[in-house]
Amino acid sequence: MNNILNKIGVGRKDVIPVSRDKDFLWVYVKCDRCSEVIPVRINLKEEVQENYDTNKEKSCAFYVRKEVCGSGKNRCFARINLYLEFDSQFKVTGKEIKGGTFVTKEEYEMDK
Ligand SMILES: [Zn+2]
Repeated sequence: MNNILNKIGVGRKDVIPVSRDKDFLWVYVKCDRCSEVIPVRINLKEEVQENYDTNKEKSCAFYVRKEVCGSGKNRCFARINLYLEFDSQFKVTGKEIKGGTFVTKEEYEMDK
């Protein structure tokens, strides 16, 4: 059990909560403007890029850039830009976000 949790980055302070479902990763982001929590599905096969530039600053195996916006239920159409880096096991090793913050799935369940 501990092993599985380590693989997806749960329980580590420096990484964001990510859940994996076969070829998809789920992360949850909260809009800075309206506080809506938005589930983001990342397709590992189609959206994630392989990193061919393996110099020291950017030594991740894969990365993804994504732009998301809310459902519109708060009449807010602000866009959130997120960027994630992964190692070869799709464990998150780096993150950047503009326009929002990463939150846990529990926060998303509470917001629904
Ligand atoms: Zn918003």
